[in-house]
Amino acid sequence: MEQSAGETGDSGGALNEREQVEQALRESEERFRELLGSLHEIVWCYAVEERKVLYVNDAVEGIYGRPKEDFFANPKLWRTAIHPDDRELARQADLSVLESGRTECDCRIVDAQGHLHWLHFRLYRVGNPGVSGVRVVGVGIDITARKRAELALAESEELFLTTMGAAQVGIFVVQDGQLAYVNPLIPRLFGYSEREMTGMAPFDLVAPEMREAAVELHRQSEAEGSRSFETIALRRDGSTFPAMVLASPTSFKGRPAWTGTIFDLTERKQAEKRIVELAFFDPLTGLPNRRLLEDRVEQLIADAERERGSLAMLVLDLDKLKRVNDSLGHSVGDQLLCAAAVRIKRVVRKIDTIGRKSGDEFVFVLPGAKAEEAAETARVLLDACAQPFIINGHELTVLTSIGISLYPEDGSDFEHLCKNADLAMYQAKEAGRQNYQFYSQSMNAATLEHLFIEHGLRQALAAGQFLLAYQPLISLRTGHIVGGEALIRWQHPELGLIQPIRFIPVAEDSGLINAIGDWVLRQACQQAKSWQDSGLPLNTIAVNVSPVQFRQSDFVGTVERILKETGLAPSCLELELTERTVMHDAEANLGILSALSAMGVELAVDDFGTGYSSLAYLKRFPVGKLKIDQSFVRDIAEDRDDLAIAETIVSIGHSLRLNVLAEGVETEEQLSILEEGHSDMAQGYLFSLPVTADEFAELLRQQPFEKSGGRWNKWSA
Ligand code: C2E
Ligand code: MG
Ligand code: MG
Repeated sequence: MEQSAGETGDSGGALNEREQVEQALRESEERFRELLGSLHEIVWCYAVEERKVLYVNDAVEGIYGRPKEDFFANPKLWRTAIHPDDRELARQADLSVLESGRTECDCRIVDAQGHLHWLHFRLYRVGNPGVSGVRVVGVGIDITARKRAELALAESEELFLTTMGAAQVGIFVVQDGQLAYVNPLIPRLFGYSEREMTGMAPFDLVAPEMREAAVELHRQSEAEGSRSFETIALRRDGSTFPAMVLASPTSFKGRPAWTGTIFDLTERKQAEKRIVELAFFDPLTGLPNRRLLEDRVEQLIADAERERGSLAMLVLDLDKLKRVNDSLGHSVGDQLLCAAAVRIKRVVRKIDTIGRKSGDEFVFVLPGAKAEEAAETARVLLDACAQPFIINGHELTVLTSIGISLYPEDGSDFEHLCKNADLAMYQAKEAGRQNYQFYSQSMNAATLEHLFIEHGLRQALAAGQFLLAYQPLISLRTGHIVGGEALIRWQHPELGLIQPIRFIPVAEDSGLINAIGDWVLRQACQQAKSWQDSGLPLNTIAVNVSPVQFRQSDFVGTVERILKETGLAPSCLELELTERTVMHDAEANLGILSALSAMGVELAVDDFGTGYSSLAYLKRFPVGKLKIDQSFVRDIAEDRDDLAIAETIVSIGHSLRLNVLAEGVETEEQLSILEEGHSDMAQGYLFSLPVTADEFAELLRQQPFEKSGGRWNKWSA
């Protein structure tokens, strides 16, 4: 100040000191005003008591859009320009500045053009309240741009939060292995509070059995980035739900994190299941529909093909269903179907597949089953459906027809098996319903009989249904009965007397022949021994041996044991083996035959001429007798070939020093031809039918035939 006074003093010495000070003041005020005028901020000064604007700079015009004179003329303009919502705030600020000396506030003002401006006001009190001349100096800074940015940010934040909150998908952020943020849906999904969830380890929300997989997936996605996977989520109460998680790396609050979404898949899974059910299951009975059935059957066929196995398809038709629908309504018909489905489901095995093919047709597929099992199942099904159904108080009886087709015989795919089972089912309907039919008719009868017989055979032995008939063997030298052939019969409780030709093959197939054969052998030996013991002249008891029995590992031992048990001399037992049996694997048979022969047992080749004999073997076999098959004897009188064969057999036999017996001798003519041809023995109806043990004993006693000098002296049978 001194320096400047000196300077001025130097330049204008004419002015007195006071004038100089005033001058300086004016200049300073001028400079001050100039400075204020150049500011962007509004600066004003207000005399509180006088209610008068003392000063305002030019910036007010730019912001309020009015000449600054207006503000001098009408101090209320300050207030009216404030946005109505902020007027209270402004009033508080006015009071506050007077009280505390300084205050700040953000207010909106509306300019002359109606535009909104955000102003940050700073107010200062100059002078003390209570003392006159208090002024308020104000500075207003236009912060519209900043406010807008802030607002936009807040809005977008709010938008973000409302979006997250309203989102039907759970959103989370994981940082440092903990949940750092969860949107409101997540706590709701998992049954925790939002606070409980923050800080939780995300893997605690995964079902224990899926945890390892989730950790592994997480490890992979750390290397590869985003990843989505399905998992089982674990709620607070221990219940679980299927969930789809999508996680990707992000940054949260400036540090690396993972953000992700989680969808509850429960509804979707249910919908998918329902879709699958609708597509593959019959909605009424809940059984697989044709499509699923086809799928499964093709799979079973593929398995069967690979393992060279079998399977059976049964098509079951409920008759009368249409009539029920027509007379009692579809609801009753539907209930009947469901009730039938429940019943038939109960009778099949777990591994069997059942389906509803169409309206009243059910399909059963029995993997591994052959005709016997298929028929057995069909019978069980027929039984199950035969009981009346009680529906809505109606007692309903349905008639069932079942058609059966077999893989691979009747088709190698679903279509063919189905078609053929259908055809068989129609046959079953035609045959009067309440029965089953196989696709192939010929097999039908054969299978049925086979089944029936096999079933019965299992009981027959224990039930004592077998018996032996005996047919005399006649010496053509003496005419005497020198032996008897034991022939089995089956006294069936329903079918009556069954001949061996019908059940021996079944017994052979099922392995039952061994037990049956042993029984025959024991029974025949016992019988022979008791005849001999009672003084009846019996040299030989002939017993037929099945190839299955013969090849049984301890056949020789069995024979030996039975002979010992019964006390019959081995030389009295003659085992008959068919030509086919002895010639099949002749080398192996040689050992067995030799062992039997060494025991002293006699051996005969039965049905000779029907197989292919190797004379070389025949020569080596320790057999003592050839039995000319009855087919050559039958037409021996008319057919020269048969005669030639019979004669050849005799000459072969004799050249090998074997006895030759002619089977099936029915007429005297046949007998005399055979005698002329030098047969040693004969057997046939001409002499006797196979008879009971008592009758045979009587024949032995009576010896009704006698021959001497080539002539029959006695013939009284
Ligand atoms: P096979 O051993 O050749 O027995 C002779 C068959 O011819 C017997 O039939 C007998 O009744 C019958 N036959 C006897 N004389 C005449 C005749 O003059 N005319 C006609 N047309 N037939 C006559 P069967 O008893 O029905 O036995 C048939 C076959 O069954 C037997 O043939 C034999 O191979 C087998 N068989 C019988 N019993 C047994 C047995 O206990 N075990 C085994 N493994 N097979 C047996
Ligand atoms: Mg025989
Ligand atoms: Mg025979």
